[in-house]
Amino acid sequence: MYGGPGVKTSKDLPIPDTMKAWVLGNPGELKLTQKPVPAPKRAEVLVRIDAVAICATDLEIIDHGSPALIEGGKPFNKNFTPGHEYMGTVAALGPGVDEYKIGQRVTVEIHAGCGQCKRCREGMYTSCHNYGLNYGDVDKGHRANGFTTDGGFCEYQVNNINTLVAIPDAMSDEEATLVVTAGTAMYGLTELGGLVAGESVVVTGPGPIGLLGVAVAKALGAHPVILTGTRDNRLAIGRELGADHVINVRNENVVEAVKRLNGGKGVDYVVECSGAPNAVNEAVYMVNRGGKVCLAAFPHAETSVDVAHIVRNNIYLYGIRGEGKSATHRAEAFMSQKRFDATKIHTHTFALDDLPTAIRYAKDRVDDAIKVVVKARGVAAHRVAAE
Ligand SMILES: [Zn+2]
Ligand SMILES: [Zn+2]
Repeated sequence: MYGGPGVKTSKDLPIPDTMKAWVLGNPGELKLTQKPVPAPKRAEVLVRIDAVAICATDLEIIDHGSPALIEGGKPFNKNFTPGHEYMGTVAALGPGVDEYKIGQRVTVEIHAGCGQCKRCREGMYTSCHNYGLNYGDVDKGHRANGFTTDGGFCEYQVNNINTLVAIPDAMSDEEATLVVTAGTAMYGLTELGGLVAGESVVVTGPGPIGLLGVAVAKALGAHPVILTGTRDNRLAIGRELGADHVINVRNENVVEAVKRLNGGKGVDYVVECSGAPNAVNEAVYMVNRGGKVCLAAFPHAETSVDVAHIVRNNIYLYGIRGEGKSATHRAEAFMSQKRFDATKIHTHTFALDDLPTAIRYAKDRVDDAIKVVVKARGVAAHRVAAE
């Protein structure tokens, strides 16, 4: 019988004792197993996962481990379930929780933080000082589902109420999985100053965060918004999401092109989403004096940076981790008001059982895949592949 001390459930949404869950074995190896359905504690709810999007960071974790941190180390062979961009239905309430109702649709953000360190107290819970310290004698209660605690490639997961974002009925499951991606772009723009109306923005790299970065910057009133990248099909989607100009970096000198498009002085902000080896230097050459650069990608190698140019020109560099300061709520507000159509980056849906195929589509960009979603129920539960 499912439950726990003080846990509220409803007969309308019966909860099994066990669930399907993918777990990470050796690097690159996912196994479908059964796990007990977890029980929510104080300030937590149980979410029935209805859809989960695959993120480049999931691919990184599955193959290389980092930035996941389980029991103080890499996440391999620890019965760990990855996946972090999920949405679903509230299925059980922890003791004392009255902020949400059973049956309510929600999307989730990743990081709950510990709630007790300096950064969590400032709303910077993605840079919690107790990251990954949620086990054994060092337990500080930190949660980042799919990074330091079990994630969403399964049927149910517990979430702190601070990580939930209520969504309207009109928002599809697939669209709701994209709120956290838009929220990451929103957090980046918030950290750069937030008020970008009438200011110029370059977004480098048309991956999911970059494309939704264009959409969020445009919705915030930025002008012009310029997107750079190497693939014309992705740049075309960027135009549909609000880019005033796109630059294919294979065809022209990107720094010169940005300056030409913005009156010669460079732009006010760059949101760097490509992780390319030369991206930081190009970004600092694209901004005008006193401009700001947000670094939102995880490059694989160290890069050399033109520090003298940064200092002489009073340029600010910001590292951005995830979706802090409740940015997902602001992103969801734009999406529910239909200020942009995030579903333009959703390309494929698979059943949860077909996760390895879905991951292959995302990793190899099969059939021009951008955002690939898996679903445990509904139409996708029965192996309907690409839409
Ligand atoms: Zn992600
Ligand atoms: Zn903390």
